Amino acid sequence: MKTDIEIAQSAKMEPIMDIAKKIGLEPEEVELYGNYKAKVSLKVWDRLKEKPDGKLILVTAINPTPAGEGKSTTTVGLGQGLQKINKKTIIALREPSLGPCMGVKGGAAGGGYSQVVPMEDINLHFTGDLHAITTAHNLLAAMLDNHIHQGNDLNIDPRRIIFKRVMDLNERALRNIVVGLGGRAQGVPREDGFDITVASEVMAILCLANDLMDLKERLGKIIVGYDYDKKPITAKDLKANGAMALLLKDAIKPNLVQTLENVPAFIHGGPFANIAHGCNSVSATKLGLKLADYTITEAGFGADLGAEKFFDIKCRFAKLKPDAVVIVATVRALKMHGGVKKDNLSEENVDALAKGFENLEKHIENVKKYNVPLIVAINNFPTDTQKEVKYIQERCEEMGVEVSQSEVWAKGGDGGTDLAEKLVNLVENKQSNFKVLYDENLSIKEKVTIIAKEVYGAKGVNFDKKAESNIKQLEKLGLDKMPICMAKTQYSLSDDPTLLGRPEGFEVTVREIKVSAGAGFLVALTGDVMTMPGLPKVPASTRMDIDEKGVITGLF
Ligand code: ADP
Repeated sequence: MKTDIEIAQSAKMEPIMDIAKKIGLEPEEVELYGNYKAKVSLKVWDRLKEKPDGKLILVTAINPTPAGEGKSTTTVGLGQGLQKINKKTIIALREPSLGPCMGVKGGAAGGGYSQVVPMEDINLHFTGDLHAITTAHNLLAAMLDNHIHQGNDLNIDPRRIIFKRVMDLNERALRNIVVGLGGRAQGVPREDGFDITVASEVMAILCLANDLMDLKERLGKIIVGYDYDKKPITAKDLKANGAMALLLKDAIKPNLVQTLENVPAFIHGGPFANIAHGCNSVSATKLGLKLADYTITEAGFGADLGAEKFFDIKCRFAKLKPDAVVIVATVRALKMHGGVKKDNLSEENVDALAKGFENLEKHIENVKKYNVPLIVAINNFPTDTQKEVKYIQERCEEMGVEVSQSEVWAKGGDGGTDLAEKLVNLVENKQSNFKVLYDENLSIKEKVTIIAKEVYGAKGVNFDKKAESNIKQLEKLGLDKMPICMAKTQYSLSDDPTLLGRPEGFEVTVREIKVSAGAGFLVALTGDVMTMPGLPKVPASTRMDIDEKGVITGLF
């Protein structure tokens, strides 16, 4: 069995200009980054504005377990399957961050015979978008500290600064730092810290902006802190947003690459799926809709976070109307939801599967609340038995839900033609009447409670003292009428990562509510949310290497 990187290295890539031509891009609209990567010029919109949209498909999943679900793998494989049945398809995925790549994940570009390539470039510096975001973010941080140093005309309270610095690595030693030490000439000392770049509000903004001017306006609304009268101070107050937008002039352009089977793929933007919305850029998704009959996209974590935010944040803002949803489930993960320990997952266990199925059942019910047709994809592992697969199929059929066994990891597009055919059939015969779950003009508490009860299955929501005081302040500032971005554990439908399956009777506790005024959402924090991960005891980077011929090993 070849490793992911060995499969990726033996791919027969087509020159990216040929891929661009295949989807009808003009040569002057394509900005080459070598032979196999390109950015698409924003000029393209003048030509495509009036063109009707193709179909939009979201790939989401059950709550993840260490057994792995394979959303990206299924997204890429489904795209390859659609190409096999002659549907013009584009894939839209998030850009990987170097933090998790060097930490535990070792890469994030699909797996097996369903990957995007050049895999090494995509996982490493790619086209530099994350560096541009890091720099734009840190420019604002630098201008903020400089403003205070130079006399603080805006009367900023250094103890009320909420805007940290960022870098695209896992670095626990920089979570809490003190800046400005060393005497009068070195600035004003204050506590600060680093988040990972994908947690930056600049990343969320880049992914939600419709165009460069919208990007600039949203950047201007970032709240960096408060003055001594508790009034918000924004990037615009510091006159930083023009230069920040300038630094992002290329990062805003979607990146074009291809899959192992030469299906075009936009890989663009990658916000965190906890304190941000976890979806690739609106601009890449919209461009896909103009250029292909089917655009397949993905959202981070399970459907309780990923799909909910895709619908209630991304689709709401960008006025997108998804045509269908694919929910990825694996026999292994459902058995874990049914109580099986990680080491015993290879043994057949239909009883545990029957118990764990309730997790998938809840996600199916949830997607139905948005009035979007759905299909379940069983991402096939070599250890799955026929009896187990049949059990999932039967339960889905009882619920009136289409289901397909997907073998895209082992077989590429050939393993995804059944899923592709069933999906096309679904889209052609079932109308999507997409609606968001809640009205953004409701109160903060009402919005959070709707999500917790309807999507998580909670009994109710507790708001801690801090959250209560945040809500009061946000209401006073008129910043409460925005969609909610829930920051919650991905492992459970509840806010307790140990409650697997379909927990009931629980209450969700909201600790704090933060505002991302530029991105346009309110972040409700439950549990401990990490915005700067640390490296594990044995980081994935210890297994990575490059030889004298430039051959890379250790990415997966
Ligand atoms: P997600 O997008 O849900 O995080 P990925 O698609 O990135 O998941 O897959 C996670 C890992 O699991 C990858 O290393 C991939 O190669 C592996 N994987 C996915 N599907 C399968 C499968 N059917 N069989 C074996 N390994 C798989």
